[in-house]
Amino acid sequence: MKTYDIAIIGGGIIGMATAFYLSQIQKGLKLAVVERKYIGSGSTGRCIGGIRQQFSTPTAIRLMRENIQLFSQMEEEFGFTVEFHQGGYLLLAHSEEMKDIFKTNIRLQREEGVNVSLLTPGETKKVVPDLDIKDLLAAAYCPDDAQAFPFTVLKGYKKRIDESKGDFYLYNAVTAIEKKKNFLLTLEDGAGLEAEKLLLCTGPWTRDLAGKMGLDLPLYPERHEATITERVPKFFEPMVVDYRKDGCYFHQLISGQVIGCYTPVPYVPGIREDTTFEFLPQLAKRMTRLVPNLGKAAILRHWAGCYTMTPDGNPIVDAAEIENLYVSAGMCGHGFMFGPALGKHMAHFMLTGAWDMDFSEFARNRAFKGKETLK
Ligand SMILES: Cc1cc2nc3c(=O)[nH]c(=O)nc-3n(C[C@H](O)[C@H](O)[C@H](O)COP(=O)(O)OP(=O)(O)OC[C@H]3O[C@@H](n4cnc5c(N)ncnc54)[C@H](O)[C@@H]3O)c2cc1C
Repeated sequence: MKTYDIAIIGGGIIGMATAFYLSQIQKGLKLAVVERKYIGSGSTGRCIGGIRQQFSTPTAIRLMRENIQLFSQMEEEFGFTVEFHQGGYLLLAHSEEMKDIFKTNIRLQREEGVNVSLLTPGETKKVVPDLDIKDLLAAAYCPDDAQAFPFTVLKGYKKRIDESKGDFYLYNAVTAIEKKKNFLLTLEDGAGLEAEKLLLCTGPWTRDLAGKMGLDLPLYPERHEATITERVPKFFEPMVVDYRKDGCYFHQLISGQVIGCYTPVPYVPGIREDTTFEFLPQLAKRMTRLVPNLGKAAILRHWAGCYTMTPDGNPIVDAAEIENLYVSAGMCGHGFMFGPALGKHMAHFMLTGAWDMDFSEFARNRAFKGKETLK
């Protein structure tokens, strides 16, 4: 049985980013990533690649400012494009309540150095000329927010971890974890490995896996469906987010394809990757209400994946009760954009035992009160 300094369970953005930074910070580290299917097969490969700095707490905003920087360096770091593109995020307020939330958040975001402003409906129309501004009261707009392609980001991390001689165990789920002096992992194929430190970052599956070790983490997966259209000539830049109950969010990739989702009300709990007949006509209705010209774009395909929610909308990124065990999960629909910086800070924490930034908002034993206002 091979012994590692650190094993990571989960080959999504969180596991891959953490493995990448571990391999960069400590050269020669004996590192393993275990993934039950292929890299990106969980939530990460199902996400739509949005990256925004418009959050409502200083920690999240600071992390996202750092993430914009980290994503922008990836092309140079990996030697190929990850389709990083600063097309912005345009958040729409159709109610006074939402407008007030935007105003409060913008004050904080600007204090943190984010280039964001509150637009009138007329100004919003200049950003997306095809937008129907009926009933719109205001919009929060940050032109520096961005998008990137999840699979090339993961491919870049994989390439660099391979170069650092990290080991991958793919198509091989962890079926049991035993803690002696080290962690003993049993894999689906019957083989095993041993590691001094262990990181659980198995997205929606984390609650079950942590449960096998006697931990009870407040992680609640729910289903989110998404779709992508065929290519149409590029006609808008930002991720458009409609916060109404029957709203949606979508953006146009550099390639011209339009990719989008909506948050179901009521939400659909559980680890669900099945799709529904209702979703496509419903999303089409919501998207064309905002941008009628989208009616010309033909749907290419449709899929589903999970958001892993926590009670306060922030992730759990911390050491667990068991010595040398760490958890990074509960990304609440923001894991792709949070991933690089969370990975970087978690790598530092696992190697030194100290956080290099205040992560108390993400502590496992926090009160879980309050709520991130921008889902
Ligand atoms: C439709 C949709 C749209 C989204 N859009 C965005 C967006 O625009 N921006 C954004 O930031 N986020 C978005 N998200 C959320 C984002 O996808 C997640 O927050 C993020 O991918 C979580 O990453 P992760 O590494 O924690 O989990 P995952 O990507 O789920 O990775 C966990 C991995 O662990 C593996 N695993 C599980 N159990 C085991 C086991 N026992 N042994 C070994 N391996 C195991 C799984 O196979 C999986 O690959 C979206 C999500 C969905 C579903």
